[in-house]
Amino acid sequence: MEYGPAPEDSAAVRDWLRDRGAFGHFIAGRFTRPGQTFASRDPSTGEELAQVTQGTARDVAKAVRAARRAQRGWGAMPGHDRARFLYAIARTIQKRERFLAVLETLDNGKPIREGRDIDLPLVVRHFYHHAGWAELAESEFPGHRALGVCGQIIPWNFPLLMLAWKVAPALAAGNTVVLKPAEYTPLTALAFADICAHVGLPAGVVNIVTGDGDTGEALVAAPVDKLAFTGSTEVGRQIARACAGSGKALTLELGGKSPFVVMADADLDAAVEGVVDGVWFNQGQVCCAGSRILVAESVAERFETLLRARMARLRVGPPLDKSTDIGALVDPVQKERILSILGAAVSAGAELVGGLPGRGCFIAPGYLRNIAPANPGMIEEIFGPIATLSTFRTPDEAADLANNTRYGLAASVWSENAAVATDLAARIKAGVVWVNCANLFDAAVPFGGMRDSGYGREGGREGMLDYLAAPVAAQRDPLPAE
Ligand code: NAD
Repeated sequence: MEYGPAPEDSAAVRDWLRDRGAFGHFIAGRFTRPGQTFASRDPSTGEELAQVTQGTARDVAKAVRAARRAQRGWGAMPGHDRARFLYAIARTIQKRERFLAVLETLDNGKPIREGRDIDLPLVVRHFYHHAGWAELAESEFPGHRALGVCGQIIPWNFPLLMLAWKVAPALAAGNTVVLKPAEYTPLTALAFADICAHVGLPAGVVNIVTGDGDTGEALVAAPVDKLAFTGSTEVGRQIARACAGSGKALTLELGGKSPFVVMADADLDAAVEGVVDGVWFNQGQVCCAGSRILVAESVAERFETLLRARMARLRVGPPLDKSTDIGALVDPVQKERILSILGAAVSAGAELVGGLPGRGCFIAPGYLRNIAPANPGMIEEIFGPIATLSTFRTPDEAADLANNTRYGLAASVWSENAAVATDLAARIKAGVVWVNCANLFDAAVPFGGMRDSGYGREGGREGMLDYLAAPVAAQRDPLPAE
């Protein structure tokens, strides 16, 4: 089987970018003329890929009006008709999978193998799955109605996948959307706009406005009915404050510092492979990365030896090369942020194994050892290919260390004894706990956090409910009766 892009895939992407020149927003079913623009770059080379428009408050207002106009018809449409569009979107993405994977790799720096084999299949699955929910909307959610217009703000680490997580359930439930992709990675969202036009999605159902945090702020302030945000805890907090008292529904998918717990009876080879999936996947730029490795003291030495050997075999290299394991970080700013946390961690007494910066946006995989619980490397979300490694003696201590964080997004527990694993899993405060695996996702399984990792769920039935208003009888009376 042939993996990775053929040269003609890259050529097709570059032709598409050249033909477009500069991108406007996608509003009311068509691209606007480009306004003031900024460059979107390939982080592995610094090469400019395209010019993209910096969205203003007026652009956002225009997109929200288009979404509002479209919502009446879209929300009133029978669910099985909405499903036809979602199926068509899924099929078209499937047909353009190679193109989209190459475009994503160019814009984001992720290894092509991950884009091709993980991101894109999950994107497709998400649209198929939610086409099913659209078919079942009336029977499964009787009396519910769409919320209306949803503002959606997404990060840069899984650009098209985060778009799918937000757009698919919103549309299935009968909402219309204004989505703002991250400023580093707007290109697959713009290619998605082409797909919406191609399948004849009614104008205004999906609107894409590009830009930075200022554009995001304008969307937060706009008259939308719901805001769905994925990104940093700091910005999530600002958005929660801005929305307080506005009556807007809000879901927040924020940061994490997830524990990766290796019990004494774990299959250590499997657990080391789990670290590759859990920590070094996507250069560690994963909100639910199992970045705090906690190992039972009795097996710690053996585990670390295996870990070092596996780490040494990971290939850092050009993202479009299908043998690359670790590609480029998304932007020089992220590299600087990671290096500054590593510097602080080492100054505070931790020892860094691996993790050397390369030229450009590259950092080799690594981990911090001999690290105290109060070390900044143990507390801050590094969001790069660097884990922490520490030990515990008893399951109680493992649970305490696992929960010693302000976050609560994910956790991973490794043990050959199901009772040991599930007992510990139940004690960890996190939205998802994986047993003997890490970073596994499915459109049918709700994903989301607790504590400083946010609230609300994406995926499955719970994800649909976050895009629907409950029937009036089921809503709690906001004021006590006189
Ligand atoms: P970020 O919060 O800086 O940016 C995320 C998005 O918000 C971008 O589109 C950005 O333009 C926009 N934005 C920035 N400032 C804004 C403001 N004041 N108002 C409105 N929008 C604003 O985060 P990032 O650096 O892009 O992403 C990294 C963070 O995202 C990490 O902390 C990571 O854990 C988190 N993340 C969480 C999940 C999840 O599902 N929980 C998934 C991916 C990333």
